[in-house]
Amino acid sequence: ATPIGLLVGTGRGAQLGILIRGPQVLEDTRKIDTVLLDKTGTITEGTLAVTSVSPAAGFDRSELLGWAGAAESGSEHPIAAAIVTAARAEGAVDEASSFTSAPGGGVRAAVGARTVVVGRAGWLTENGVTLTEAHLTDLATAQQGGTTSIMVAVDGAFAGLINLTDTVKQSSAGAIAELKRLGLRPVLLTGDNTAVARQVAATVGIAAEDVYADVLPEGKVQTVRDLQARGRVVAMVGDGVNDAPALAQADLGVAMGSGTDVAIEAADLTIMGNDLHQVVQSIELSRKTLGTIK
Ligand code: ADP
Ligand code: MG
Repeated sequence: ATPIGLLVGTGRGAQLGILIRGPQVLEDTRKIDTVLLDKTGTITEGTLAVTSVSPAAGFDRSELLGWAGAAESGSEHPIAAAIVTAARAEGAVDEASSFTSAPGGGVRAAVGARTVVVGRAGWLTENGVTLTEAHLTDLATAQQGGTTSIMVAVDGAFAGLINLTDTVKQSSAGAIAELKRLGLRPVLLTGDNTAVARQVAATVGIAAEDVYADVLPEGKVQTVRDLQARGRVVAMVGDGVNDAPALAQADLGVAMGSGTDVAIEAADLTIMGNDLHQVVQSIELSRKTLGTIK
């Protein structure tokens, strides 16, 4: 296409709520054959809710939720927001200090005199918490129930599980069907557990073999690289801090407008309506602009 044609395409994108970083992006978009989709906040609403709390022996449910809520108040992760909301619903949440967080891992903070660690099993063990087979079995059992289940430890001891659920966006299944109709292969990429990932994939029409779950942020970039090494031209759609390196590595990085600033900065294209149909529109726009379809 002519430079003018590309600029017109970029302007048309803006009208559709698709912010395109530069004219070249439309050329890159046309070549895409694989679309990696983050789960939380991209395919799903990213508004989680706590469905149950399972305190370990010797811990009180409400106290556990309070400590976890305090520790999570410094995090902007959707899991954190849900835990803080659930904790507040049961009473005042203490202030936390010495807050630390690991993208794709969890948080740690001091709550009063206690050290509270919340997140994945690996994040707890990194913080010196000993997890037994029984704890890991409890986690696996909870996850098989289809929840995003996270672990809580207090002063180095496992204190219980918090189970959460998210809702798939109403538009996701239709948009993913459209992507397939355009000849693109949708792939699900998430830091969440395999059971939840498979359930969401089945709901929106992504094949089980195209589900990559339990992937840490470095793993997301590596997955993009692996697919590229196999000759695939990859778009990555995401919203989180944990998605940013993969957005930068992808042939086309797409951020959700509701996403974190870090994701938007790393992306080539930002969709303002947070609806995956806009990813479809971006691809159609690039094909039209570059004359592949009229
Ligand atoms: P996704 O790929 O679904 O956006 P993330 O990479 O952000 O997920 O997180 C992966 C996993 O890491 C979560 O499912 C959770 O177990 C854990 N995690 C990340 N951030 C937090 C947090 N603030 N509190 C508790 N757990 C967290
Ligand atoms: Mg996300």
